[in-house]
Amino acid sequence: MIIKKLLVANRGEIALRIMRTAREMGIRTVAIYSEADRHALHVRYADEAVCVGPAPSSESYLKADVIIDVCRKLQVDAIHPGYGFLSENANFAQQVRDAGLIFVGPSPESIEIMGSKLAAKAAVANYNIPMVPGTPAAITDRTEAKAISAQIGYPILIKASAGGGGKGMRIVEREADFDEQMDRAVSEAQSAFGDGSVFIEKYVTSPRHVEIQVLGDQHGNIIHLFERECSIQRRHQKVVEEAPSAILTPEIREAMGRAAVDVARACGYFGAGTVEFIVNDKLDFYFLEMNTRLQVEHPVTEQITGVDLVKQMIYIAEGKPLTIKQEDLQIKGHAVEIRVYAEDPANNFLPDVGTLDTYVRPQGNGVRVDDGFEQGMAIPIYYDPMIAKLITYGDSREEAIQKMIRAIDEYQISGVQTTLPFCRYVMEHEAFRSGQFDTGFVATYFTPDKLIPETDADESELAAVVAAYLIETTKPKAVGVAGKTTTSSRWKANRLA
Ligand code: ADP
Repeated sequence: MIIKKLLVANRGEIALRIMRTAREMGIRTVAIYSEADRHALHVRYADEAVCVGPAPSSESYLKADVIIDVCRKLQVDAIHPGYGFLSENANFAQQVRDAGLIFVGPSPESIEIMGSKLAAKAAVANYNIPMVPGTPAAITDRTEAKAISAQIGYPILIKASAGGGGKGMRIVEREADFDEQMDRAVSEAQSAFGDGSVFIEKYVTSPRHVEIQVLGDQHGNIIHLFERECSIQRRHQKVVEEAPSAILTPEIREAMGRAAVDVARACGYFGAGTVEFIVNDKLDFYFLEMNTRLQVEHPVTEQITGVDLVKQMIYIAEGKPLTIKQEDLQIKGHAVEIRVYAEDPANNFLPDVGTLDTYVRPQGNGVRVDDGFEQGMAIPIYYDPMIAKLITYGDSREEAIQKMIRAIDEYQISGVQTTLPFCRYVMEHEAFRSGQFDTGFVATYFTPDKLIPETDADESELAAVVAAYLIETTKPKAVGVAGKTTTSSRWKANRLA
């Protein structure tokens, strides 16, 4: 069936990104929005837009019935859920299907299996996929769990089976801490996911997060589109991603790609999906979980493969067979993405929402900005505080990084603190530049004092520099620059010795 009208059950940059491709394909678009998003860009961009409720997402973006009702009223054919919100909700996918609509994503059955880390591990058990040593099922007996932990060796990680976004995850360094961390993990899992089931994995030391993008059609064809390296994280959440990874060899890339396709096959997968692996310092890789949706970081894959993942998702949802063959795919160049969050890196990355007094995007060759804001807009407190994704693309890793530093310097944001200065620090850091880093990057190398005003001057010259900065920023052309200000080009990461 051909999709003529698509509702995007999401907001912000991802809603816009999906609607852009839909428009290129001649598909009409419908946006939904909450009362807080009345003036949002995705609402303006869509052909039609409908308010689905008050600001809290539980009363708007998560209202499955209301969203399906909108589809009926506006004669929508298909729903793209984006990421977050209802994207990995098997019940929603089923409801969409039952309403005679197309869900642009996998089957409810695949979502169900992969939604539980334990069910996912069980599903792939026959495929010879490497897995981190640990408990195969949810823990019911603590004494037994402790015995298993002692056997696999500390440190271990307690993880929520229903987990996501790094919640319900606790490292246990030694047996004496086991009970306390277990209590915390269970209660975190219970309150975040309504499911307190937890299991144990060996904590992989010097871990890197490497994931493989897959695409499967409804005729049993599954391909992979290589890897994304997502090891620069804060609170177990990604903030810098790149493709390809700086450390994989062609052999390991191929082996991981094959394993990812097998994981997808194990749950009869179709649509776009991501198979996440953890990689140790010897480049052994282990299956972590599968995300059954489009990922935030999908643009880096699009840049290096030339494949529009949203377009492929729509074709697959229409029932078309994949036209891309594995052997046709090649990595071309290198792409880096940074997530620009309204967060204060100097204050433990706490959200810092407010109004974008200044907002000027970088431009130029090899620079892509996926965002959902304009100057003067407020970042709502109700949702994820991501302002934008900044992606750069070059012939080589070095070129992509140089472009990223240049683009960060061009990006002007004031009114809120952002992750831009932190990301610039990462780009300049020797560990990142050499490719020798792991998920502990922030803990190992980053402290707020690494973000200093841009100057090579010594202390005695600092006052003059600050004075010059103040004079410049109070010139009439500087829009609303006062008090709480981050204009990224004024700040520079202190290069580590
Ligand atoms: P979530 O679904 O909550 O995002 P994941 O299983 O995807 O959880 O893990 C998130 C991050 O936690 C990984 O990217 C990695 O940094 C860390 N992590 C997960 N499992 C392990 C492990 N066994 N050893 C070390 N780090 C891990």
